[in-house]
Amino acid sequence: MSEVSISFTIQGDSEGFVALECPFCESEFKVNAGEFQSDDEPVTDLFCPYCGLTTDKDQFFTKELVEQVEAIATNYIYEQLNKSFGKMAKKINSRSKSVIKMSYKPLKKMNVQELKNKDTVEEIFVCSCCEKQEKVLFLSGVSKVYCTYCGVDLP
Ligand SMILES: [Zn+2]
Ligand SMILES: [Zn+2]
Repeated sequence: MSEVSISFTIQGDSEGFVALECPFCESEFKVNAGEFQSDDEPVTDLFCPYCGLTTDKDQFFTKELVEQVEAIATNYIYEQLNKSFGKMAKKINSRSKSVIKMSYKPLKKMNVQELKNKDTVEEIFVCSCCEKQEKVLFLSGVSKVYCTYCGVDLP
């Protein structure tokens, strides 16, 4: 089978923000869905707004998001299998002399929850450097937050 790429869009909360989780300190924060998935300025690495460490943006996906993406991928593969096996069954069965009868029961698709995010009470920060938005929970004791895109301190 040839390689397939599945594209999907993550929808944010009511303000268009997507929840992410830092792989280092496990804190949650949110980014603007449009900026995070921008084709014009593709995002490759992110900084944690809390601890300031940086790594590949895929590492910031929450467990729920990974599960949802896996469900979408599984459904896509099932769909492709259902299509090609359905066709094959028709072809075989249409040959009148054929002794082989093939029946194919389509695979059931998984239930995909919508890729939506719950609304939370984080504060929205706009980076003065790259002008991108992020939503962070302003915890007591946290004196500064970092821009998740360029890593600078936010006032
Ligand atoms: Zn962190
Ligand atoms: Zn920035």
